Amino acid sequence: MATIIDGKQLAATKNAETARRIAALKAKGITPGIAVILVGDDPASKVYTRSKQRKAGELGIYSVQENFPATVDQATVLQTIQRFNADERIDAILIQAPLPAPLDWHALVAAIDPQKDVDGFHPENVGRLYNNLPGNYPVACTPRGIITMLDSLGFDYAGKQAVVVGRSILVGRPLHSLLVNREMTVTMVGRQTPRFADHLRAADLLVVAAGHPQLVGADLVKPGAVVIDVGINRTAAGKLVGDVAFDQVAPVAAAISPVPGGVGPMTIATLMEQTVDLAEWRRADAKD
Ligand code: NAD
Repeated sequence: MATIIDGKQLAATKNAETARRIAALKAKGITPGIAVILVGDDPASKVYTRSKQRKAGELGIYSVQENFPATVDQATVLQTIQRFNADERIDAILIQAPLPAPLDWHALVAAIDPQKDVDGFHPENVGRLYNNLPGNYPVACTPRGIITMLDSLGFDYAGKQAVVVGRSILVGRPLHSLLVNREMTVTMVGRQTPRFADHLRAADLLVVAAGHPQLVGADLVKPGAVVIDVGINRTAAGKLVGDVAFDQVAPVAAAISPVPGGVGPMTIATLMEQTVDLAEWRRADAKD
């Protein structure tokens, strides 16, 4: 039976560490700050931003949120980003995805000061990660949280085969870079991938971020693999399920993350961690 990777517990440990770092910053007169931009009425986005705000509040992070109707124009959101870029109280800026059309998410993300890009989606930060540059820069929170989960297992990356299902900017692509940078052989698979099942069955590390309930059953998992389930899907009965058939796969895998209680809480804990990182890095850079 697999080790269950307890994202809730790991997140609690990470949040306690973040709280200690915030206390140390406050002792120096610094309060880390996060600004969240929410556009429209997407129910999931509302839930996510509420959870982020709640956790920031609990940890003593200064937080503000700008809510816009779905009809807001690009220039108005852009002005808000520029205001937060210039605001000394704000270390971290987050635009909750997805944005309603016709807003241009890429252009808005590119307008965020890269030093305040807490989601790690700014092209400069994506490029740093892609090129495995040294130094401090933010990285997409869900993949960074997955690395924390794998590190907690003492996972040995180098020389192993990873398969990542899903190629989004939020999850699959940055995770690909993080794993390649740790000397893994990484295969990205999607809907059009030939021999999909063969790829998955060869994975020592299988990360599933497709948004498709029960996509991966035991027949697609190599015995002894580590399986990370990123998917968040709601069944007709209102139950939260991942992309992996947990009950089937747990007896086969060496380790598996559950949904709920896996990647989700780690993403928020990592967002808080990275807000504090940004608060520290920006001030350190200002002294150079
Ligand atoms: P997305 O829709 O942007 O990307 C999904 C990717 O999966 C695409 O590349 C798509 O081609 C691929 N895909 C979809 N169905 C597939 C299938 N049947 N077979 C193979 N590939 C398939 O989604 P995203 O933003 O990357 O999110 C993916 C899932 O992860 C969603 O369920 C989302 O809710 C969840 N998610 C969870 C967290 C978290 O913190 N736990 C964070 C981000 C996303």
